[in-house]
Amino acid sequence: MGSDTQPFDLAVIGAGPGGYVASIRAAQLGMRVALIERDRLGGICLNWGCIPTKALLQSAHILSLMRRAEEFGIHADNLRADFGVAVKRSREKAQRLSKGIEYLMRKHKVAVFSGEARFTSAKELEVGGADGKTKGSIRAERILLATGSRPRLLPNLTVDGQVILTSTEAMLLNRAPASMIIIGGGAIGVEFADIYQAYGTAVTIVELLPTILPYEDEEITALLHRSLTKKGIKILTGTKVEQVIVEAGKAKVRVSNNDGNKELSGETVLVAVGRVANSEVGGLKELGVATKNGYVAVNEWMESSIAGIYAIGDLVGAPLLAHKASHEGIVAVEKMAKLDDVTPVDPRRIPSCTYCHPQVASIGLTEAKAKAEGYTIRVGRFPFSASGMAITLGEAEGMVKVIADATHGEILGVHIMGAHATELIAEAGLAIALEATPEEIAKSIHAHPTISEAVAEAALAALGRPIHV
Ligand code: FAD
Repeated sequence: MGSDTQPFDLAVIGAGPGGYVASIRAAQLGMRVALIERDRLGGICLNWGCIPTKALLQSAHILSLMRRAEEFGIHADNLRADFGVAVKRSREKAQRLSKGIEYLMRKHKVAVFSGEARFTSAKELEVGGADGKTKGSIRAERILLATGSRPRLLPNLTVDGQVILTSTEAMLLNRAPASMIIIGGGAIGVEFADIYQAYGTAVTIVELLPTILPYEDEEITALLHRSLTKKGIKILTGTKVEQVIVEAGKAKVRVSNNDGNKELSGETVLVAVGRVANSEVGGLKELGVATKNGYVAVNEWMESSIAGIYAIGDLVGAPLLAHKASHEGIVAVEKMAKLDDVTPVDPRRIPSCTYCHPQVASIGLTEAKAKAEGYTIRVGRFPFSASGMAITLGEAEGMVKVIADATHGEILGVHIMGAHATELIAEAGLAIALEATPEEIAKSIHAHPTISEAVAEAALAALGRPIHV
């Protein structure tokens, strides 16, 4: 070890929700922690993902409500929207939260190194500056990789930030374009569709698979498809993008589906076809780390194939979600600290949320998956059109769907489309974590009037005795 090499118990590479949360937990457990970040604290989530998109969605939601103002007895004449200001606000929120992580690192005495980490051995890292020069070296007993992911691009298509965009450029435009073709109908594509549609952009989503949000319950995605179409978003599912040509500041997108070939034209194209793991950390390949489909391969305790090197978050694969990354980070460091009660992250307990309006949220098995796994199921549904609170809010679209095992009663999955779905899913998460039954949800008294009553009613419906339908 060189004289200027600093010793740590744990070095974490990447300060996204995986890496910074793992650093805090490790510090709480008494480890001396180094956190290395080449860009901004908070990673994609705070700076280029969850947070700025939710800020933009909030602006879009307020604008949509203002357009309906008359319905609520409010005259909003001369309504004008400034997308540039919404973007500025979203950047401010992201910066504020990133600053908050700086404070948390100081509070927990995590040593933050700014620069690009590369391995010089399985226990040593160099931190390089933007000029490529080494700024320092670190030795750590354990190294946790939390380097995240970046947008997947399409072959032969250059992202120019003007016509061809990824999610990063799409959250920095200073005005809403006249039209946008969104390639990919996953959560990111759908959220941007909702944002831009609200600001008057003519949005078309092109999705290769048969449904948008392809991992959600089919009944829910069908409802969402209908709702977004009603808003004016065009959705082409089962449709393949054959070619994208940029000409005179516009894009032509050739697509094919069962109806034949078609050419769409748009002022902008958002490529939202998934993400690629940042697995090219310097020196890692040379150490011989095992990968699987481009992701770093790990066991249930987030250990890679190299002793002492762990990996978490987007880097280790789907679902690419911030809370999954954070939980994997906690599991990894608690296991390092040999805590007794650590349990691996159970994929069935990871909620999935899409923050378009109406929102979509789910946890556990879809109806199709539950059947495919051989369960005999009971399904309870409760429409928001029968929820007093949803009606008063003027957001009576959607439903809660509870799927329970008919034999033992255990709740297998909960799927929601509608107002505050992304908040309601926490109750379902707790129910699944406690292996609760619909009976137990129904016995828990839900305040009236709340949207959460719909969860209790769907649970009652699974028992065959809903009250309000
Ligand atoms: P990241 O957040 O990607 O952080 C990795 C960090 O590592 C980066 O800061 C990077 O600079 C750094 N790094 C990489 N290599 C090195 C190196 N060699 N040296 C030093 N530093 C390095 N998820 C949700 O749960 N909810 C949402 O609402 C949501 N919305 C999203 C919206 C968009 C537009 C996008 C793109 C993503 C969204 N996600 C959402 C996904 C979420 O952002 C990711 O799942 C999450 O950020 C992954 O966390 P992570 O810690 O694994 O990696």
